[in-house]
Amino acid sequence: MQTIKPMEFFRNLPPKQCPECGIEISEQAESYLMECDHCLSKRED
Ligand SMILES: [Zn+2]
Repeated sequence: MQTIKPMEFFRNLPPKQCPECGIEISEQAESYLMECDHCLSKRED
């Protein structure tokens, strides 16, 4: 029987990647965002 706990599930997730430039997004306060700071700053319009 293999039960994956929610906490372990998130730990096993691969690093997030920005779909725009492909850079690895470090898990920080803005980790809920899909893009890196660089691409996000370009979107402020
Ligand atoms: Zn990016």
